[in-house]
Amino acid sequence: MPLRSITSLDLKGRKVLVRCDFNVPLSGGKIGDPARIDASLQTIRYILAEGGAAVLCSHLGRPKERTPDLSLKPVAEYLTEVLARRVKLAPDCVGDVTGRMVENLGPGDALLLENLRFHREEEANDRDFAHELARGKQAYVNDAFGAAHRAHASTAGVVRYLPEHAAGFLMMRELDALRGVTENPARPYVAILGGAKVSDKIGVIRNLLPKVDAILIGGAMAYTFLKARRIEVGQSRVENDKLELAGELMSEADRKGVRIVLPTDHVVANSVDDEQGEIVSQISPAKLGLDIGPRTIDEFIAAFAAAKTVVWNGPLGLFEKPQFANGTLKVGEALSRLDGATTLIGGGDTAAALANQPWASRFTHISTGGGATLEYLEGRELPGVKALEQ
Ligand code: AMP
Repeated sequence: MPLRSITSLDLKGRKVLVRCDFNVPLSGGKIGDPARIDASLQTIRYILAEGGAAVLCSHLGRPKERTPDLSLKPVAEYLTEVLARRVKLAPDCVGDVTGRMVENLGPGDALLLENLRFHREEEANDRDFAHELARGKQAYVNDAFGAAHRAHASTAGVVRYLPEHAAGFLMMRELDALRGVTENPARPYVAILGGAKVSDKIGVIRNLLPKVDAILIGGAMAYTFLKARRIEVGQSRVENDKLELAGELMSEADRKGVRIVLPTDHVVANSVDDEQGEIVSQISPAKLGLDIGPRTIDEFIAAFAAAKTVVWNGPLGLFEKPQFANGTLKVGEALSRLDGATTLIGGGDTAAALANQPWASRFTHISTGGGATLEYLEGRELPGVKALEQ
């Protein structure tokens, strides 16, 4: 069955279980960045405007049991503010008290259920728990793209008990954007990959190799590739057990005519705590590379100048520290100015590094899902999406 959109559901007078991704960064009980909540507002507002009652649920963090610090209370407060109506927080996601709160909802009401992961059964995709989650609701909408790579009770199991189900607007937008870059992407097609670990990106590289014209590699993972080419990388982060694999991937790229572009200069330091880096073309044995250098920035920008499709996953340096964020930001800004191209920014750290920049709105799409985007780009089926198609 093809994926149904929320617009195909009759929501009037119905209680709709909405799986959202409210897994926002918290510090001191305050929401650091509400982007993930904002991304689902269209879906929530639509349900309320159609005369449905929205029963919102999400996970937050990785608790294995009830953990007060990981309560969704700050999210309920934020939703109350932005939706301009009271969004109560239920004491749990299942159980009699919560059941009664759901029962009392009328058209246009919204209720937030407490953190799904306070129950181990959520991640175990437990049948009874999924059944319990469905109790008292008549429809299910999944808008949690960021959790779609997980087969959990709230993303997969629950579908069986709520045959009226569909994807929310965010889920549809995310999948449309990803489909756009995986099914017949306009060429030239360039991938930019960065971040900490080669091991996380192997699947993506393998799946992209037959499709792309060039892969630009920055971030810590570049040092494993450079070392595999016998280039001195000093104390830079290297996955020694992936050197052979990096070599194989580069040979495969050669055979397929895919250009692999690696950094030719670096911002190095003695430690990650140094206040300032130094630009070098060759890394001396005592130093570690923490960002791409200015020549590499220019080479990366030149490599996608004619591209019609660009996918980016993983920051190009230790962007959390401003002294090592230059490469990620300069490449980001240039990419945002690329006319006539589809530009897709993978979620997670890449989105965190770029989303708040003034030019970020010029990208075609910034994904809200880190792991889910990666798995999609690896060519894997997302269980949360598959469940909706059944
Ligand atoms: P990932 O989750 O694999 O996308 O990795 C993201 C992390 O990689 C971020 O925390 C970055 O700060 C980090 N990172 C990127 N480049 C480097 C580098 N050259 N050295 C150390 N960490 C880096």
